[in-house]
Amino acid sequence: MTITKWVYTFGEVAQLEAELDGSWEAVRSLLGGKGANLANMTRMGVPVPPGFAITTAACNAYLQANQQLPEGLWEQATAALETVETATGKRFGDPQKPLLVSSRSGAKFSMPGMMDTVLNIGLNDEVAQGMAQREDNAHFIYDCYRRLVQMFGSVVLGAPDEVFEDALHNYKLNHARATDADLTTEDWQQVTRMFQNLVKQYTQAPFPQDARAQLRQSIEAIFKSWHGRRARDYRRAAGIADDLGTAVNIVTMVFGNLDANSGTGVAFTRSPSSGEPRLFGDYLLRAQGEDVVAGIRNPKPIEQLETEMPDAYGELADVCKKLEGHYREMQDVEFTIEQGKLWMLQTRDGKRTARAAVRIAVDMANDALITREQALQRVTAEQVNTLLHPQFEPKAMEEARSQGRLYATGVNASPGAAVGQVYFDADTVERVVKESGLAVILARPFTKPDDVHGMLAAKGILTSAGGATSHAAVVARQFGVPCVAGAASIRINLEQRSMRAEDVVVNEGDWISIDGASGDVFLGRIATRAAVLDEQSELLILLEWADEVCAAAGMRAGPDGWPSRGLQVWANADYPADAQRARQFGATGIGLCRTEHMFFQENRLPVVQRMILAQQPDERQAALDELLPMQRKDFEGIFEAMQGCPVIVRLLDPPLHEFLPDEYEVWKQVISKRVTSLARYLLGQETPDDIAELERLLARVQELHENNPMLGLRAVRLSIMLPQIVEMQVRAIIEAAANVELTGTRVQPEIMIPLVGHLNELNTIQPRLKRIARTVMDEKRVELEYKFGTMIEIPRAAITGAEIAEAAEFFSFGTNDLTQMTYGFSRDDAERNFLLKYVEDGILPSNPFQTIDRDGVGQLMRMCVEGGRRTRPDLEVGICGEHGGDADSIDFCHLIGLDYVSCSPFRIPVARLAAAHATLRHRPDN
Ligand code: PEP
Ligand code: MG
Repeated sequence: MTITKWVYTFGEVAQLEAELDGSWEAVRSLLGGKGANLANMTRMGVPVPPGFAITTAACNAYLQANQQLPEGLWEQATAALETVETATGKRFGDPQKPLLVSSRSGAKFSMPGMMDTVLNIGLNDEVAQGMAQREDNAHFIYDCYRRLVQMFGSVVLGAPDEVFEDALHNYKLNHARATDADLTTEDWQQVTRMFQNLVKQYTQAPFPQDARAQLRQSIEAIFKSWHGRRARDYRRAAGIADDLGTAVNIVTMVFGNLDANSGTGVAFTRSPSSGEPRLFGDYLLRAQGEDVVAGIRNPKPIEQLETEMPDAYGELADVCKKLEGHYREMQDVEFTIEQGKLWMLQTRDGKRTARAAVRIAVDMANDALITREQALQRVTAEQVNTLLHPQFEPKAMEEARSQGRLYATGVNASPGAAVGQVYFDADTVERVVKESGLAVILARPFTKPDDVHGMLAAKGILTSAGGATSHAAVVARQFGVPCVAGAASIRINLEQRSMRAEDVVVNEGDWISIDGASGDVFLGRIATRAAVLDEQSELLILLEWADEVCAAAGMRAGPDGWPSRGLQVWANADYPADAQRARQFGATGIGLCRTEHMFFQENRLPVVQRMILAQQPDERQAALDELLPMQRKDFEGIFEAMQGCPVIVRLLDPPLHEFLPDEYEVWKQVISKRVTSLARYLLGQETPDDIAELERLLARVQELHENNPMLGLRAVRLSIMLPQIVEMQVRAIIEAAANVELTGTRVQPEIMIPLVGHLNELNTIQPRLKRIARTVMDEKRVELEYKFGTMIEIPRAAITGAEIAEAAEFFSFGTNDLTQMTYGFSRDDAERNFLLKYVEDGILPSNPFQTIDRDGVGQLMRMCVEGGRRTRPDLEVGICGEHGGDADSIDFCHLIGLDYVSCSPFRIPVARLAAAHATLRHRPDN
């Protein structure tokens, strides 16, 4: 039987890659992201301390075998250790020339701070003594040793971190040492002993002196931590599968805390906040490992390293450039400088803000590091959504400044404006948000992986310590939560549940506003405003590339075999101002203009009500004649704004009662009038004359009452029963189109009849409306290109698409209603009463009103497109339900060969990118 190879030294990466058929993806799966990249850097000639990786397969085997190391693993690890000993000329556990190693976890996908690290493995009493005697840095050696005992005690043996922190704190108090730097060699020796006693107290066993036992236990602890709570929480939030397992990396220790010529740091090859192409990061001299990332000490900006250690800085800059060129992606690196010599300890694709993601993608494509298509694939629809998130209203922010409400300033760690009540621990934040739905800001001295659930529930995150690469900053950026990190003037008192800066105390529950783009923290609430697209030039460029991808796809066959015209993005817009915004955001048509919204504007409602209440046809016509010029003016505005793009205008959709007062309210008024009238009558006074009018209103409201109005007399049914209204609307549309066309601006009106269920409904009303269009064109002496079409909102219409297309020249899926009717859900009632539970309990995979239910509603749509295009191959088909702005639904719309998706103007940028993603994902040559 061949024994599986569980361990690979960094030098063996080429061989492994060849074994895996050259698949780097497979190497990453097996060695984890960190291990694969360390090995790869070794191959590239980047300085990496010698080491080896234990595979993710080993982790899974260990966990499956009830925490037993799989056969051969330990022997292979020992052999790999020997290779490292040879490479370094040191021996593990040898007091004369000891090799010290670190043990770090590394899953396939980077999970910052999630898994555990142990440094300085290999130190024990004898080795420490040996080193201290031989070298003149006993102080440093005992500092390392106490760190090992502390990390091993907490990470491997499970003693709480605070036990050690508190003991050290008390030791310093008792010995009058202000900071760690004041501790002498003897102090560190004593602290080490104290820590060893704590380990014994806590675990009932002495701290292991055998270097190999330390190593073995560390490896097992990392395997086990894959199932720890914080790892699970993070995986759930980031959508990482539970069965990937983690690799373990054993790497020769290099010491950033050795002397004044040593240090450690983290750097991004470009700014993770803005995307600017320059080194960005933090470092600390005389520091080891986690000191920078943990955000406990305030680090220095990387630019300063150029002056403090120019050679090391120069080499770091070169390495970063080389790495970026190799990975063609912004890198996030960890490095250590030991006595002036640079060592790289990690590289990975850097997490970034949405703004930086866009800028980096566009810059890299412009520099030919990646293609435009790759650039598009590197930005998610959600990131674009984040960019359209609110910012502080500039005026309101200025006002807050002039009122002295600027409270503190920290690092602008993750952009976006957040306003909320401040709470000081993750559990409370999560609870308050769950119970009350309030906007909350989480404020902590610094965050740890255990805080992730509160960070995700909060609207914003504020820390008083740590820099742009602290845990808080990294997690916030990844999840698009605004964050201000390291606002050092703030002192947070977790016991008193308050914070203080410049003598101003903010208590738990007080409102604050944080600006993750500038790093400012304000007292109280500041108004926010929507982001302005014009200010985001890289995003505009990226979206143009997205449009090009879709347009180019239009020249090929679509994924389902239909001739594809390329998925376009149109807008749902009801007024000229909306249409203008839609154009600015890049819409190439209007997919839905809900004309009834115009009826609610300004002084129109009384006219509409008069039209509804009219008892005689000429009375009704008079009201409609008054409405006609108003509607015509709106349509003219929309056609002008759209400059020749198609505009779909939907004829009246809701039931008439929506324009009348509520029956209950009218009843109340009538009763009150009746009572007054009776009183007056009894007193011999005249009765008020307006009661008759009110009684008439009540009678009409009652007449229009239906048990289930959304399934009653509305839309096409109302048009058939009361054609005058839609006749007026068609006249207004065609007159407006003719007027605009006559000014030299092209128009493409498309008139949409809603809620059709049977072809005969269309056959009844459409010819009548077409005659009006003809009459208007004759009157105006102009020929217009226009269409009549219908919405597909009723399952019967979808099923009989082939027949409906005999009359309709276009289809538009009204998936809001189509979903309601397919599921038999009333949306409002469902969302209020049970839909949340359905989604939470997995009864439904997602809310079908947000993401198209592909298996049900989607199948109806597919069937309808096929039927419709069988009858009319050039049938234009789109979607105007809210799903038109949802990335997953857009993907489906592309798959079934729709011509456009139509969504609200603010979703247009998201939809444009999602349309390009769908096009690239389903390209026939993929
Ligand atoms: C729809 O039903 O999807 C639609 C767009 O119409 P409305 O939302 O106006 O009912
Ligand atoms: Mg509808």
